[in-house]
Amino acid sequence: MSNDNENKTPSNFIKEIIDADLRTGKYKSVHTRFPPEPNGYLHIGHAKSICLNFGLAKEYGGVTNLRFDDTNPTKEDVEYVDSIKEDVKWLGFDWEDRLFFASDYFDTLYDYAVKLIKKGKAYVDSSNPDVIKEERGVPSQPGVESQYRTRSVEENLDMFAKMKAGNFGDGEHVLRAIIDMTSPNMNLRDPIMYRIRHAEHHRTGSKWCIYPMYDWAHGQSDSIEGITHSICTLEFENHRPLYNWFIEQLEIHHPRQIEFARWNLSYTVMSKRKLLKLVEDNYVSGWDDPRMPTISGYRRRGYTPESIRNFADGGGVAKRNNIIEIGRLENSIREDLNKSAMRVLAVLNPIKVELTNYPENQVEELDAINNPEDETMGKRKLPFSRELFVDAHDFQEVPHRKFHRLSPGKEVRLRYAYIIKCEEVIKDSEGNIEKLLCTYDVETKSGSANSNKKVKGTIHWVSAKHAVNAEVRSYDRLFNVPNPDGDKEVDFIEHLNPNSLEILKTCKVEPYLKNAKPGERFQFERLGYYCVDSKDSSENNLVFNRTVTLRDSWAKIEKQKR
Ligand code: ATP
Ligand code: MG
Repeated sequence: MSNDNENKTPSNFIKEIIDADLRTGKYKSVHTRFPPEPNGYLHIGHAKSICLNFGLAKEYGGVTNLRFDDTNPTKEDVEYVDSIKEDVKWLGFDWEDRLFFASDYFDTLYDYAVKLIKKGKAYVDSSNPDVIKEERGVPSQPGVESQYRTRSVEENLDMFAKMKAGNFGDGEHVLRAIIDMTSPNMNLRDPIMYRIRHAEHHRTGSKWCIYPMYDWAHGQSDSIEGITHSICTLEFENHRPLYNWFIEQLEIHHPRQIEFARWNLSYTVMSKRKLLKLVEDNYVSGWDDPRMPTISGYRRRGYTPESIRNFADGGGVAKRNNIIEIGRLENSIREDLNKSAMRVLAVLNPIKVELTNYPENQVEELDAINNPEDETMGKRKLPFSRELFVDAHDFQEVPHRKFHRLSPGKEVRLRYAYIIKCEEVIKDSEGNIEKLLCTYDVETKSGSANSNKKVKGTIHWVSAKHAVNAEVRSYDRLFNVPNPDGDKEVDFIEHLNPNSLEILKTCKVEPYLKNAKPGERFQFERLGYYCVDSKDSSENNLVFNRTVTLRDSWAKIEKQKR
């Protein structure tokens, strides 16, 4: 066990259980697993589970397995397996040589089932599925025992072998455990262990036509791998008696299952079924659409692994389901990028400014600070010339009372450069602004000894002839209500935010960004954090994704609502 106190996280109920298990000698070390079903991409809730499982094991000097729970041949796919491996790695975790698949255990599980049949603890039920359902009953009333429950061991063995051999069609028979049809816990009413399904499996091909149910495979898989602490979400709490029953009947290694509350995030849906719908019905561009709450979506949007880990670790573990504020995740990435991202100037809605008293053809190389939070990131040169672009939002022809940026007759400072004054607005025949004629005050150069003149506003800009064209994709929350899943009467699709994506194609960014690489992250001064899109950006067509704004604009909106 590790004695490294520096890496200790605050205690919680899971750690208390582990501490007690190590103290009493129930287990000698800690061995956890992360068991995704490869039927979708990983989402931020999975990130919580990954950080928890790998984090706990590390803290106790133990190890963690990555195990694919691939017992359902029709919904699972190698695309998902690959994406899950990539995402776990990207988050910063290493399963080393412990990559497993529940399908690796199909033979062992079959042998275990035979063992239960021989003990008189399992039988082949040939009832119609509707009858099985009917006989299971409801929690408030006992169920009814199947007429096949009393089949002899020999007949069960023979039938089960024939099920495996492919002698029957889908749904003709199932293997069930013999437990208790009167139990108030429905999971114990002779649960189905195997069903017949003539389907290709992504790993075992056509070898099997009977497939284990999740409840039969999961606990035994944990046991086979020697897992000590099997951490799962609350909905499995009343499956625990069943898992314990199987393990005790089989007399095999007994992991301890610990349940915690699943993470939900406000303004988000997390069920894989719903995320799949968003993808299949083209509400988003794919699993890695930067608006998706998937790990691959966050990666593409510009989130760092560290920001997601900090978010997950900072949230603790609970015994009651609750909704985590999405603002916490957004703050986590802001905090991280504030320290690490280089500042640059980018004009998203350009209007042209001509400095009528600035020498034609003159270019000055101004000093710009790369990151005021980190001096070691140094400085860069920013070209300044007679023609510039500023953002249309930083100009008002008839200024609002509190507007301190550019307007006719008013002065504003250009970041790292001079104070300029707007002298005239040039419009086309339709009244659209073509350009602003301004003058600059040579005495006011930033950093020079006599630049004492004060103005209320500072705006960003880029030099027109040096600027690089770019496309900028601004993302907002995918849903416009805090709990899109909350109302059973209303389909979650109804709550999609129609303005979750805004594409600006005529942006102008400073020349430094010309060579920005896919995945590189920047702060666009005064705007937010942006990342070069890893799929659609190319040398001739720079595409940036907005990771997050500089401030939480939703906090203000929510406050106004109150
Ligand atoms: P879904 O219901 O969306 O399909 P799932 O729980 O079936 O999700 P799995 O692939 O089985 O998805 O999940 C792998 C692991 O991640 C499980 O141990 C599960 O408990 C955990 N997990 C899944 N979603 C969350 C969540 N929202 N918060 C915490 N842990 C989660
Ligand atoms: Mg699951």
